[in-house]
Amino acid sequence: MVDVVDAATRSRMMSGIRGRNTKPELLIRSLLHRRGFRFRIDARDLPGRPDIVLPRYRAVVFVHGCFWHGHGCHLFKWPQTRPEFWREKIGRNRCNDERAVQALRAAGWRVAIVWECALRGANRDIEGVIERLAGWLKEESGAPGKPSDSDGRDRLELSL
Ligand SMILES: [Zn+2]
Repeated sequence: MVDVVDAATRSRMMSGIRGRNTKPELLIRSLLHRRGFRFRIDARDLPGRPDIVLPRYRAVVFVHGCFWHGHGCHLFKWPQTRPEFWREKIGRNRCNDERAVQALRAAGWRVAIVWECALRGANRDIEGVIERLAGWLKEESGAPGKPSDSDGRDRLELSL
């Protein structure tokens, strides 16, 4: 196999491996579980396959790797090699992400996105992240299925 990526790119790819059960995702699950939240993780039937589904709160959570999902933060840098390939790939990921959020919202789900950068690095505040996520989840618990036109209650993004 031809080696097409430089070492820095590969390490970024490895740290942001796409797919199920990446570390940041396990961390969020275990901290939510410890706080008494119950959820399911096999969300194949939902747009974008959210990482955590909390039916009782009518909420889903995505834990996004900053590289793969093109977050404009310090963890994201365009790879030096094959710029067009990456622009297309990450652009498509972002587009799919946005479509999934819209479809979920249209189906009455509230959507939270926890970015990898909120969970990594010296300035991380993981307890703070969980605190805000838990608070946001509980906002709606008294009124399941109640429609809301406030975007703040229906969509949450946590990053560094
Ligand atoms: Zn980020």
